[in-house]
Amino acid sequence: MSAETLPVATPAQVRAYARRLVLRHPWDLAGVLALHALAAVTGLVTPRLLGALVEDVRDGHADIDTTGLAIAGFVVVQGVLMRYAYLASAKLGERVLAELREEFVDRVLALPLSTVERAGTGDLVTRASRDVDTLSTSVRYAMPETLVAIVVGGFTVGALLLNGPLVALPALVAVPMLVAVMRWYLPRAHLGYLRENAAWSEIADGLTETVQGARTVEALGLAERRHERGDADIATSYKAERYTLRLRMVLFPVAELGFVLPVASTLLVGGLLYINDMATLAQVTAATLYAQQLIEPVDTVLSWLDELQLGGASLARLLGVGNVPPDRTPNGARPAGERLTARDVRYSYRPGHDVLHGVDLDLRPGERLAMVGPSGAGKSTLGRLLAGVDGPRSGEVTIGGVPLVELPLDDLRGHVSLVTQEHHVFRGTLRENLVMARAGASDDEIGQVLAAVDWDGPGLDTVVGSAGETLSPAQAQQLALARLILADPHTLVLDEATSLLDPRAARRLERSLAAVLDGRTVVAIAHRLHTAHDADRVAVVEDGRITELGTHDALIAQNGSYAALWTSWQR
Ligand code: ADP
Repeated sequence: MSAETLPVATPAQVRAYARRLVLRHPWDLAGVLALHALAAVTGLVTPRLLGALVEDVRDGHADIDTTGLAIAGFVVVQGVLMRYAYLASAKLGERVLAELREEFVDRVLALPLSTVERAGTGDLVTRASRDVDTLSTSVRYAMPETLVAIVVGGFTVGALLLNGPLVALPALVAVPMLVAVMRWYLPRAHLGYLRENAAWSEIADGLTETVQGARTVEALGLAERRHERGDADIATSYKAERYTLRLRMVLFPVAELGFVLPVASTLLVGGLLYINDMATLAQVTAATLYAQQLIEPVDTVLSWLDELQLGGASLARLLGVGNVPPDRTPNGARPAGERLTARDVRYSYRPGHDVLHGVDLDLRPGERLAMVGPSGAGKSTLGRLLAGVDGPRSGEVTIGGVPLVELPLDDLRGHVSLVTQEHHVFRGTLRENLVMARAGASDDEIGQVLAAVDWDGPGLDTVVGSAGETLSPAQAQQLALARLILADPHTLVLDEATSLLDPRAARRLERSLAAVLDGRTVVAIAHRLHTAHDADRVAVVEDGRITELGTHDALIAQNGSYAALWTSWQR
């Protein structure tokens, strides 16, 4: 099943953002453009000098040395100006790029967790890697060079007109041709590149899935099917690439023709004008050289347009991440107390298929509640709702009277936290992995917390995670619990948080956890019934409902589902 992809920003959003991007540092930009304009102007003197020289040669009084020296002087000045112009634009480009990256990270971190889970990580990873790369080429090279080429081209056209409007006309023959081919090309290329990028995301998604699920793939003999999916993805990508290649095969020859035509026609028409005394030899020479000089900026603009399109498509995908509607609407309300309550909560992963059918639960602050029940009954789903990871479809989950989805995420995590079987060990030292839960925690505090989770792993300065020592799944689980204790929320939801430890170690850990978490409200989703036995109350979840709720002893006496579970577990 292919995951749904994250949204893509609209063309209007991309345009507005690109405008803001260009104008973000207006003074730096003005400086950069002024430097380039100056360099361009010094480059425009040479054709005029050469034109005059040709005439002087014809009239037999040429001073080649002086003209040569003057041209050399202008070339040197132009070179120096260019150096500073490029330095300034490179600096500006890097700065804008760095800001863009930071914004993207902010946007990603603000994504609702459920959206990330649904969209799959492949899409996000492609956006964070390939799209950011593409965009950085645009911001570093394409945008500044295009802007500069436009400035240089504009000045060259100005110089061409100043030199003589009549001899300037033949250079314009290429304009309709170039405009027409670009109008044909750009909209097609835009769609083409969007398709290319989407195809890349699919490939990345498929590969990540195959690698992450390698064991499952092998165990179930799915290799053939994974191959087929890979082949299909590559075929789609190949088709998308072929399409844009075809577009370029039309664009390039037409553009090439558009470059030579002005030079040839200026020379030809200019010659006619000269013969008929409508232009001087100097004018025709200079105009031809200007037509030649125009090729470079026009070529630059046309070739970067392609890259800018790619950059635009990538930008649309990066900005699109911000188009995900927020899953919470903070309104400034403050919880009065720490009482966590669920009222008539319903939830569905797919429209029309509720997996929770009106759950009511009133947690007493400080109590330990164990949730048990058959697999698929809705325990994890209820756990996520109680921790505010997802909002209910109807009904509400409140803390101190305020719905969880109305609390900003940072506030929420100070009240309720969730620990599941999945947790990440970040690369860095063990200490860094812990203090992220509470900045400024001392080694003493960390030591106590590690003792509470029966830590038997490496020391605080050991580098762990992908770059260092690999923690066992059980240790990773202990680490996650230690972080949770440090973060110190009032209410904790533990979803099989000790499932990866062996039963004896799990029970020991749960007891020492209980000591540390004394006074905290704990909801523990358990598949080992001793957790339930040790808890203050037990909730039995069956088919999306809480069917039994009470102390272990009361439920045993009631002789219902829990009593049956307990008896079979005891055996
Ligand atoms: P439990 O934790 O009791 O095993 P869950 O809360 O995981 O139960 O699942 C409850 C129901 O919701 C099950 O029918 C399950 O198939 C369904 N479900 C759980 N997660 C998802 C999901 N991400 N997408 C669609 N259905 C889901």
